[in-house]
Amino acid sequence: MSNNKSLYRNIIQVIFLLLFAFFAFNGKMQLWIIVFGIGLLISLIWGRIYCGWICPINTVLRVKKYIYNKLNINEFDTPEFIKHPFIRWVILFLFVTTMIVSRRFNIQINMILYVLIVAFILSIFYDEEMWHKYLCPYGVLLSLTNKANNKKIKIDEKLCKQCNLCEKNCPNNIITITKEVQMIGEKECLYCFKCQDVCQFDAISYKK
Ligand code: SF4
Ligand code: SF4
Repeated sequence: MSNNKSLYRNIIQVIFLLLFAFFAFNGKMQLWIIVFGIGLLISLIWGRIYCGWICPINTVLRVKKYIYNKLNINEFDTPEFIKHPFIRWVILFLFVTTMIVSRRFNIQINMILYVLIVAFILSIFYDEEMWHKYLCPYGVLLSLTNKANNKKIKIDEKLCKQCNLCEKNCPNNIITITKEVQMIGEKECLYCFKCQDVCQFDAISYKK
């Protein structure tokens, strides 16, 4: 089942990456706002599925991570000042304000494409957690709507063997595995199911 989920996710990510590229090359990036809107709505029921299954930035970062792992390249950790909650709200404010002003004065700024480019450049050097957790303006919104969703990724403490594989593979560094504690920081979960894919003891499930 987990393998099927991984296959479906790969297919869906490629489809949305192609759709994003189609919109970008045909000057129709504003249509991606509809995808954003749908992602926001479904996050109320299923969580941040947009992040793990649809987001073109995440798809590109997955490829990057695969190459870095193969070549044994390490990224820098997220700088401490970026982790201040104030930063993410300022970025969201600037993003929304720029979109409103550009529409109001009919200025052609392809904000979503620029955001993708900035995310990619930063992620060449830094752990992808920096983008997903601290800088992505859409991620800030999704971390709010995600609270309403009552289906979460959970670790069954009775089945967990504390092998730490899930912790090492989580792109958002939100899993804590010690002898005493096995937990997932639900608010920032991308619902990418990588943790479930790597767990050999079926200790991770997606349930109410
Ligand atoms: S991969 Fe599975 S068994 Fe290993 S630490 Fe994570 S939940 Fe526990
Ligand atoms: S906890 Fe699991 S599903 Fe959530 S971001 Fe980490 S690896 Fe992905």
